[in-house]
Amino acid sequence: MENRKHCLITGGSRGIGAATAYRFAQAGYKVTFFYRSDEESAQYTRQKIQKLTYDCLAYKVDVRDLDAVQSAVQEAVDTFGPIDVLVSNAGISRIELFTKTTPTEWNRIMDTNIGGLYNLVHTVLPSMISRHSGSIVTVSSMWGVCGASCEVAYSTSKAAIIGFTKALAQEVGPSNIRVNCVAPGVIDTEMNALLDDETRAELCEETPLCRIGNAEEVADAIFYLAEENASFITGQVLGVNGGFIT
Ligand code: NDP
Repeated sequence: MENRKHCLITGGSRGIGAATAYRFAQAGYKVTFFYRSDEESAQYTRQKIQKLTYDCLAYKVDVRDLDAVQSAVQEAVDTFGPIDVLVSNAGISRIELFTKTTPTEWNRIMDTNIGGLYNLVHTVLPSMISRHSGSIVTVSSMWGVCGASCEVAYSTSKAAIIGFTKALAQEVGPSNIRVNCVAPGVIDTEMNALLDDETRAELCEETPLCRIGNAEEVADAIFYLAEENASFITGQVLGVNGGFIT
């Protein structure tokens, strides 16, 4: 009887999602990941994981599209079995004054960061409830905790993810499903590729550990929360930020 668990990660082509997909594969999980458009990164990540396990599926699925999410989840479940761990990681950010944020841009951020979370969890949760088992990890940001100037839309969406996590944890705890959140600080991924050297240096200076984090450090925190070692932890937000906020 096959007893390896199945983990689904959104935004798994690069950055934190790719490191997380790799972390679960290292632990023997069957891994499915979704990405939006970056075929090259998705291919690279899939090949890297397949050096550890052939059980890796990658689907080009925009998390904003509920029908696409539902059909890819169904295909993944048909191939690898029910989803034991869901990591809702896909997200976008934008730096601009709130007064410059158009309704289109506002909706794009909300539809991806919160709408995507709804689409994924709404699709995967019923099976977890009926199996009385499962673990969900959401990805917020330290800006969702303390707010960031020029990132009002992003901070709003990331604060909503924390509210979602806490509320859902209460609702599905009796079904033996845990829901937790990581709130990363500044992490060295493409999301921060636009930061110039001066801004990077300032961010390092403001961080008690004196550096920017890396994707693997966030992946380790996600893995910890998802796994049995964290069996009495639910509804929590774990900061992975080098002490930037406490
Ligand atoms: P990246 O920009 O490096 O990667 C984003 C990932 O999300 C990519 O795989 C991308 O796919 C995917 N994605 C984006 N939009 C969609 C969509 N509509 N549908 C499906 N997939 C999508 O980001 P990070 O790895 O840095 O960030 C990952 C998460 O961590 C995000 O939620 C982010 O907000 C959060 N975070 C990041 C921090 C940082 O400093 N980097 C700090 C705090 C939180 P594709 O490659 O195809 O575009």
